[in-house]
This record gives sequence, structure tokens and C-alpha cells, in this order.
Amino acid sequence: MAEQTVLVPILGDQLTPAISSLQGQAKNSTVVLMMEVWDEATYVKHHKQKIALIFSAMRHFAAALRDDGWTVDYVKLTDQDNAGSFSGEVARAIERHNPYRLRITQASEWRVQHAIDEWEDKFPCAIEVLSDDRFICSRSEFDHWAEGRKQLTMELFYREMRKKTGLLMNADGKPEGGKWNFDSENRQALDGALFVPSRPRFEPDSITKEVLTLVESRFGDHFGQLEPFEWPVTHAQACEAADAFFQERIENFGPYQDAMIFGEDDLYHSMLSTSINIGLLDPLDLCLRAEQAYRDGKAPLNSVEGFIRQIIGWREYVRGFYWHFMPALASANELDASRPLPELFWTGDTKMRCLADCIRSTNNNAHAHHIQRLMVLGNFCLLAGIDPQAVQDWYLAVYADAFDWVEMPNVVGMILYADGGRLATKPYAASGNYINKMSNYCGGCDYKVSAKTGDDACPFNPLYWHFMDRHRDRLSSNHRIGRIYSTWDRMSEQKQREYIDSAEKFLDSLEPAREGWAR
Ligand SMILES: Cc1cc2nc3c(=O)[nH]c(=O)nc-3n(C[C@H](O)[C@H](O)[C@H](O)COP(=O)(O)OP(=O)(O)OC[C@H]3O[C@@H](n4cnc5c(N)ncnc54)[C@H](O)[C@@H]3O)c2cc1C
Ligand code: SF4
Repeated sequence: MAEQTVLVPILGDQLTPAISSLQGQAKNSTVVLMMEVWDEATYVKHHKQKIALIFSAMRHFAAALRDDGWTVDYVKLTDQDNAGSFSGEVARAIERHNPYRLRITQASEWRVQHAIDEWEDKFPCAIEVLSDDRFICSRSEFDHWAEGRKQLTMELFYREMRKKTGLLMNADGKPEGGKWNFDSENRQALDGALFVPSRPRFEPDSITKEVLTLVESRFGDHFGQLEPFEWPVTHAQACEAADAFFQERIENFGPYQDAMIFGEDDLYHSMLSTSINIGLLDPLDLCLRAEQAYRDGKAPLNSVEGFIRQIIGWREYVRGFYWHFMPALASANELDASRPLPELFWTGDTKMRCLADCIRSTNNNAHAHHIQRLMVLGNFCLLAGIDPQAVQDWYLAVYADAFDWVEMPNVVGMILYADGGRLATKPYAASGNYINKMSNYCGGCDYKVSAKTGDDACPFNPLYWHFMDRHRDRLSSNHRIGRIYSTWDRMSEQKQREYIDSAEKFLDSLEPAREGWAR
């Protein structure tokens, strides 16, 4: 049996029974290898819920594979000889099973794939790496699309994906509803009185409880609250979460996609990213369900198109973008930002009510919704000129759905403009006005959103002009932003000075994060 054995390592984000590495494999000659690896749990100090989510989902997945007749060699973090590293653990498994072949689905992260690429020289057996067909657009397809384009406009990529999948496409090749994008209908603020159905929350079973104890004992110094832990950890639970979204929340997903309400952490978002990213749910399947909801008259086109665009547009796009620009993307810093991340990102200790609420949600849930990540937290990092590496570490550590391939393009390209504008045509910079329009944060804030300068002014207001002023050389020629400088130029010198002084006073007051939070 030994010389016919095929070893199939399955990574923590490959929890899909139809994963390419298992396709066509005979159960009686395959050993599935799953490993809880110390290095992976700590290369940044992930939020406790994120580690619990991945370990618990892995253990449940291993149990499901065994029930289905597969042989699974599962290495727990606490196993005595645990090598602590990914390649070290694979080496030990090769000694145990003496496989003639090792078969693995391509890693989603560059760092892990880099380690896999070295196995050919390291290990005595043949190594077979398969592409990850859970993505709709292959890496080579994206490279082909990107070839020769200066600006990689997501909207154009998205149209290609619509044509490829046929989602919301009519027989005549035109988009459903006559438009590709209904975003103009999707920018409504919430008045706070609207009913938001709560999403299903899952009680930890005995497997999850054991993992929670492990996480508390081994990763107790990591950021974030561990309990209540309510994420779906099995395919069945993830399906239940998806069912609830399609039945109760998708209708309002579109209009209120950009809304923020103090203390409301989910609103009408799907809260499915953790399940999609670790493989419990299939992204295309979700899009087909969304389309069906529209065709059945259960959800409006603007909501359904918006949801589908997030997945076959943004999600696929950032994955292609990541692989296209790695490894240079990781160190991109076009705006030469160098300020350390402030301590308040870890403690939430700030008078800025919007920031404090987003950090509270991040701490409690290992989640914040998109517009919080983009226009509150991200906008702050952009305007304050925080070092992209520190921002990447933070986003990667604190969100349960964060993996390099999706976190990095969003941070480097979308929020920080550190890629020089390849992803976004202009920086997503905004003053307090935007946050006030889209949320109810400002009403109860110690700062005044209407005050432009001075100690009680909303810090976003002077920070906005400080950012614009210091990057004038780079940004004034951008046709989407250049006209802003005529407003600046019309201000008196004294007014401009007041903006700059207020911003600098605020920036000087920021306490840098203490060592040891992220790494
Ligand atoms: C700075 C920043 C960092 C981010 N980091 C991550 C991350 O590490 N992991 C992650 O999955 N998402 C990330 N996002 C995207 C987005 O914020 C989350 O996918 C979303 O908040 C997850 O919640 P949800 O499932 O309720 O999403 P919904 O609002 O319900 O959206 C539906 C789905 O669309 C996909 N999606 C939406 N926007 C994006 C996007 N910009 N990029 C990729 N996929 C998207 C997700 O799969 C999401 O589940 C980031 C966004 C920003 C601005
Ligand atoms: S006033 Fe400024 S700091 Fe306060 S909640 Fe509004 S946007 Fe945030």
C-alpha cells in the first residue's frame, strides 16, 4: 500500500469536499493530512475568534471526511511532536506514510505557496500542485486580462465575469435591467428605526468548546474577545446562515450597503465572508441563489446585482490583482506613509465615536462591515499617513475573514492608495461630512462634525486637507480629484494654516501602538 499512497494536505481555507486535490482520488489509497500549525496561527497574532474559527472548522471538516470514508491524519496543535511549521509537519507526515506522490491545491496566499514551491527539492516524493477551481477567474485568466492595462478597472473586469458566468445576463447578451451596475441606488443612510433581522448564531458544540479552551490557553494574549463565539464552523451551519440572508436580509442589502449605525454590527450584510473564504460555501453558488431570489421576485435588482458584484467582481478581482502584483504588492508605499499605527486601533480608546464603534465591533466579533473598514478605519489610516505594513498587519490580524490575498489588495490598493492607483482611480479620502451623511455616529460624538478646525473639530476635517495638501504633487493631476485643489486655493492663507495646525496637533497627540500587539 505504501508505494501507492497519495498524501493530500488540506489547508485551513480549503475546507471544501470537492477541492481539486481530492477530485478523482481513490479513498483507499489516499491519506488526507490536516495540520494545526503554530507558525500559521502566530505569524501575525490573529484575533482569538479567527484562530478558533479555523481550528474548529478544520476539526469538523476532518470528522466529515472520515464519515465519508476518507483516511485523515489530523495533527492537533497540542500533539507532542507537532513541528510548529507547515513544511515541517508535511515532512513528518511523509515519514509516517511514505507516499509516492503528494497532491495539493494551490495555496491562496503567496507566503504559503512559496513554501510549497520548495517541496520539490525538499521531499523524496513527486509533488502535484493543482489550481484552485473554487475561484471563477483563474490566475492566468486574470493575468491575460490585466496584460497591457495601465489601470485595472474593477468595473470592466466585473463585466467580463458577468459574461463568463451568465449571471444577470439576458439572451441578447445585454445586462439584466439595461445596466451593469446599480450602485447609484445603493447609497441610502439608515434612520435607525428600521428592523434588522438578526443573523443565525451557532452555539459551540463539544468540538468547538475544546478549541475555545485551547485558544484561550495558548493565544490568550492575542487581540479580541473570544466569546461569545457564534460563527458557522460547518457546511450545514454556513448554509443555514446563507438561507437566513437570502430569506431575510438580501432585499435591503443594496440600498443600505454603505450605511452605518452605532452599535449595529451586521445590518443587512450577508456575514458570509468567513464561510466563503475557508471553503464552507461556494461563491458561485451564492451568486446563483441571489439571482434566483431576483428572478422569483423576492429581492430587487439593485440588491442582487450589488451582492453579485461584490463576489464575482471585487472578490475575484482582488484575488487576481494580488497574484498579479505579488510579491511587490506587499511592500508598496507610493505615498511614503510612515506613521506608526496608533495604540487606539487595539484599545478602541478614542473620543472619535465612529472609530471607537468600529474597533469595538472588530474586538467583539472579529468583524466590521465593509464601509466601516473602508470609510472609517481605512480613511483614518490614509489621511493620517499610517505605514502600510502596520495597517496590513492590523487588518490581517483582527478580521476572522482575513487572508493575505483578500486583505492586502483592499488595504494597499483600496484604502491606502499605496499601489499608486492601480486598483482605485483616486484615494478614498473623505472628511467627517461623509461619515455624518452615512451614519448616526456624529450626533453623540465629543467632536463636532460641523467644526472645521480647532480642538473640538471632527479630526477627519483637518486631516482631510492635511492629506490633500501634503500629496498635492501626486494628486493634483488626477482628473477625479484635481478640482479639489481649487477649493483649497480659494481659502485664505490663515484658513489653510488653521487646517494644517489642527491636523498636526491631532496627529502629534496619537500614541503609537505598543510592541507586541500584531507580531
Ligand atoms: C481595508 C479592507 C480590508 C478588507 N479585508 C478583507 C479580508 O481580509 N477578507 C475579506 O473577505 N474581505 C475583506 N474586505 C472586504 C469586505 O469588507 C468584507 O468582505 C466584508 O465586510 C465581509 O462581510 P460580509 O460577508 O457581510 O460582506 P457583504 O457585505 O455581505 O458582501 C458579500 C461578499 O462580497 C465579498 N466582498 C465584498 N467586498 C469585497 C472586497 N472589497 N474584497 C473582496 N471581497 C469582497 C465578500 O466575500 C463578502 O462576503 C476588506 C475591505 C476593506 C476595505
Ligand atoms: S464627528 Fe468626526 S470623529 Fe466624531 S463620529 Fe463624526 S466623523 Fe467620527
